Amino acid sequence: MLTWETFGRCVPELAGQVSADGYRPDLVLSVARGGLALGMGLGYALGVKACAMLNVEFYTGVDARLDEPVVLGPGPSPADLAGRRVLVADDVADTGRTLAAVRDLCAPHAAEVRVAVLYDKPGSVVRPDYSWRRTDRWIDFPWSSVEAVVTGSVPA
Ligand code: 5GP
Repeated sequence: MLTWETFGRCVPELAGQVSADGYRPDLVLSVARGGLALGMGLGYALGVKACAMLNVEFYTGVDARLDEPVVLGPGPSPADLAGRRVLVADDVADTGRTLAAVRDLCAPHAAEVRVAVLYDKPGSVVRPDYSWRRTDRWIDFPWSSVEAVVTGSVPA
């Protein structure tokens, strides 16, 4: 279980990894919804004002997945990505298939694409460039553990 308090420490630690590595992203691309908070934090910590999001659905519950990650709605256009050093932010690289789909969308247009996650799991097909912790367990995040105020969900 990650708490909001601990999340507050992950952000500067991950930003520190990116900075120490000499990577200077000019666009932070958050994978919604789970990567939104991290993308916001990294945008501020790294001084990057250009922030975008791509909404991807893959999991429908604990260990319950769709056949393929599905992109819901428009993300950044090829022109938004053109020539940019992109930092993709997400909560976790589990199978890594979501991040592989995002990377494949960006790579033909961007100058460079790197990936930052809070957690990576050993079986991920994408090895994130920056990760706060590695685990092989299911992780509860503070944003998705709050009890819903409204039952059901509004489609993307
Ligand atoms: P993937 O299997 O494509 O790497 O994971 C896609 C998405 O599924 C993640 O961005 C995250 O939103 C969700 N997910 C995967 N593993 C976990 C987990 O251990 N805990 C939670 N809460 N979500 C997960």
